Amino acid sequence: MPSTETKAVRVNKSTGTGMEIDWADGHQSVYTFQRLRDACPCAMCDDEREKSGAQFGEAPKPKSALPMYRDPARPTEVTPVGKYAISFVWNDGHRTGIYSWEFLRIICPCEECKAIRAAGGKLVPGGSGAIYG
Ligand SMILES: [Zn+2]
Ligand SMILES: [Zn+2]
Repeated sequence: MPSTETKAVRVNKSTGTGMEIDWADGHQSVYTFQRLRDACPCAMCDDEREKSGAQFGEAPKPKSALPMYRDPARPTEVTPVGKYAISFVWNDGHRTGIYSWEFLRIICPCEECKAIRAAGGKLVPGGSGAIYG
């Protein structure tokens, strides 16, 4: 069963490459900062995703055909939130997203997890660490 317990979390802030999580069940997730910024789970970003028709965990779709250039996303600050989550202050000033371990496991970008999601795997609320149904 997929675990939502972390064994090690590495935020490569200085190199800007992203974040790696080793899960208690031996799985490893590697996220780019851009992906984490795009997947921001805060209410504001949720709203924008909904309005633009993007999926859970995706970036809100750009409003114009020619999106303005933006600096690549990277965090200026990283703060643990209790034992269950982590939060970032992004270089664009956004800071309201709280990334729970459960959420991060759900959006794991690896091929294996992508395949589970494509097969219709989904969150089981309240499960004992089991997040795919
Ligand atoms: Zn947000
Ligand atoms: Zn994965």
